[in-house]
Amino acid sequence: MPEEIVESESGSNLSFNGGVKTSSLGETLQFIKGVGPHLAATFAKLGIITVGDVLRHIPRRWEDRTYFRMVAEVRSGELVTMQGIVMGVGSTQPRPGMRITKAVLTDKDGGSFTLVWFNQPYLEKTFKTFQMRKSQVVVYGHAKLSGWILEIQNPEWEAPSEEENALSANRIVPIYPSTEGLYQERIRRLVDSLLKTHLNCIDELLPPEVVAGHSLVSAQFAVKNIHFPSNTSELTDARRRLVFEEFYCLQVLLALRRRANSHLRGGIKFKIDMDKIRRDIAEMVPFELTGAQQRSLQDIASDLTSGHAMNRLIQGDVGSGKTMVALGAMLMAVESGYQAVLMAPTEILAQQHAIVLRRLLEPLGHSVEIATGSLTAKEKSGVRERLISGQSRLAVGTHALIEEEVQFAQLGLVIIDEQHRFGVLQRAALAKKGQRPHVLVMTATPIPRTLTMTLYGDLDVSVLNEMPPGRKPITTHWKPQSKRSQVYASAQRLLIEGRQVYVVCPLVEESEKLQVKSAVQLREHIANEVFPQYRVGLLHGQMKSDEKDDVMAQFKAHEIDVLVATTVIEVGIDVPNASAIIIEDADRFGLAQLHQLRGRVGRGQYSSYCVLIAEPKTQVGRSRMEVMTATQDGFIIAEEDLKIRGPGEFFGTKQSGIPELIYGDILRDQAILEETREAAFDIVARDPDLSESEHLALRKALRRTELGFELIGVG
Ligand code: ADP
Ligand code: MG
Repeated sequence: MPEEIVESESGSNLSFNGGVKTSSLGETLQFIKGVGPHLAATFAKLGIITVGDVLRHIPRRWEDRTYFRMVAEVRSGELVTMQGIVMGVGSTQPRPGMRITKAVLTDKDGGSFTLVWFNQPYLEKTFKTFQMRKSQVVVYGHAKLSGWILEIQNPEWEAPSEEENALSANRIVPIYPSTEGLYQERIRRLVDSLLKTHLNCIDELLPPEVVAGHSLVSAQFAVKNIHFPSNTSELTDARRRLVFEEFYCLQVLLALRRRANSHLRGGIKFKIDMDKIRRDIAEMVPFELTGAQQRSLQDIASDLTSGHAMNRLIQGDVGSGKTMVALGAMLMAVESGYQAVLMAPTEILAQQHAIVLRRLLEPLGHSVEIATGSLTAKEKSGVRERLISGQSRLAVGTHALIEEEVQFAQLGLVIIDEQHRFGVLQRAALAKKGQRPHVLVMTATPIPRTLTMTLYGDLDVSVLNEMPPGRKPITTHWKPQSKRSQVYASAQRLLIEGRQVYVVCPLVEESEKLQVKSAVQLREHIANEVFPQYRVGLLHGQMKSDEKDDVMAQFKAHEIDVLVATTVIEVGIDVPNASAIIIEDADRFGLAQLHQLRGRVGRGQYSSYCVLIAEPKTQVGRSRMEVMTATQDGFIIAEEDLKIRGPGEFFGTKQSGIPELIYGDILRDQAILEETREAAFDIVARDPDLSESEHLALRKALRRTELGFELIGVG
């Protein structure tokens, strides 16, 4: 696999900007003056390696710090940025496992406000230092008035030093995605200095007629002002330009792909005996397929026998039984003499699929390989060998499957589970392992049809609009913290009946480490204080894969009764005996995520429960809880999610099934998307090879981007 299409685990980035004159934008940070290996390593945690990566690291939001809000004028519930000096700090422990840290600040007018954190005791020391130094601290969060006291819980905060003030105060200030130990002001300083030294490396890749015709600002102006705009209109222009460029490049590639596809329509023609497949499935599984599952399999069978390459999306809500459809399709492939591969986004899920496929398919004489990142070198080479020799026909795995060394003798079918978790490139890279294999992608995310049309005009869709029979609805309750002991008591009744329970830890966005810490604490608390008589397990993202597999296997085998977990269990996990899920601080999760989490229960014959423990501080949080208690329908939830959050976040990145974008947002920027679509199809119609001199920069950029020309036509 050529270098350009290797991509990071987090998915593809359609980054078209700034990738010019690689000699300098490609410089690695550690050799930049004033950076050094330690800081470079910290940035690397964010996937930032080169100068270009820094310039593409766009702010999460911008804060207008030309004006801070004063205590006297703030109303409850508002999202505010305030500034003040620390007057006092202290912590209390109202009950075991819960530590509250408070800091009191006063603003310029002498109004005082309180910052509150839960279980982050180390902040006490940090804020004591600020108090001693009389540093100005800038905070951002939801204001809450209780009586006379203005409180901000879990605020974002920052104490810009004197010398940083030029970048961090009295202006529109960029707030960047960050990681532990990396302060906003450090990022700002680096961005600022790289803009000074490297801005001129950024070339204009949009043809002049496009820039002029669509009233766009120049590439360099855009990059500078996306970071440090002098006013909001510059920011708007900068953003529009970057979004335009990103969509334009994507649309040019799609236009080229469509051209290429039109004379490359052929695909492998499978020979399928549907009756035999049905008999095999009937023998394998103890239940009958739902009508929707059968219809999907029929759709797939007609694609596979048509002589054209299949390109189909299976869309079905959590628990609708997508795995069986994948299994049926894989069976069609092997019985036609081809290999089939199933890729899942997490190791836990890949393992689970491997277990299911092995249990069902091995009795029919089909061995199933598993490829994940955690195999030993020896295991890996064994797997590779059996796949390239054709000895094994079936493989399941994570993105480890797309590594260069993994090759197939006769790959006929590629299936991507939870496809929205992957970038386009990862999907394409897998498909490239065969000669135009059939492609099946599966998702639980409802994608509005108009958008699928825009982005994947050639994708067919089957919908699993029917749940397997016997499912009982999941009863969802929303409870305040004070009712926790009742919640545990109800959970205990289920445990006594022999069911299992998930407890999902609060989301700690600030850092993965903190998240793990809080998960460990919660597990301790539950194991020692709440359910000492039950087996309580722990699962989080920082555990080694074999530990994760062990815990998952134990939970599945009912050797664990209560599983305390982070959102690693969010997708795909299937343990039908688990009939309750308790989600801590539920209002912090997005609706789509809550819906996925709730989908972990109600997968079997038992009445199931989802308990949301939440005391939402915001209207958004409250609405989420209301929606969750009101409905269980994924489509309705997605719609409500759109209404509550606005399309911007809903189609942010990973939830959407749409390639991960840096600047653009498929829904919010739909108008720009349409605009670029026309412009792109126009250029491809006039100059299909992009060989005119005005198009050379674009051609070069597209070639270099990860979505290079050679990917076109891979579907
Ligand atoms: P998802 O669509 O979320 O991937 P799964 O494929 O994991 O759903 O299926 C959820 C559960 O439903 C699994 O335990 C599976 O064995 C079961 N299941 C799938 N199809 C049927 C069916 N037709 N009848 C009964 N149970 C089914
Ligand atoms: Mg699934």
